[in-house]
Amino acid sequence: MTQAHRPDRIQQAMLRRLDRTLQEQYHQSLAEVLAELRIRNVLTEYEPTAETIFNVLLHTNILGQGTSPSVRSMRGAMERFVRGSYGFCSRCGKPIPASVLGDDPTATVCPNCS
Ligand SMILES: [Zn+2]
Repeated sequence: MTQAHRPDRIQQAMLRRLDRTLQEQYHQSLAEVLAELRIRNVLTEYEPTAETIFNVLLHTNILGQGTSPSVRSMRGAMERFVRGSYGFCSRCGKPIPASVLGDDPTATVCPNCS
């Protein structure tokens, strides 16, 4: 993770993208998903950090099988984030420019390799 990637901002951007995707494809906002998880007691914090939201979503299978390819690719990006491999090209291993990730937080290859 390079400094230019600024983890907080990227996480927020990923959550905004996920929210939009959920609304477009499932007519359900991320806030509604989180409210449901609160009712089920899976999420116990009232104002969870992006990190907590990532972990809770990855821990449950909400974004797993049966969801759309774009939701699954968001899940993949969140997994890479938690594992620490987020933002690096899957082919050459070099950091993916922040501008590319800003446009597509699920990008897995750098401009040279794409
Ligand atoms: Zn590359």
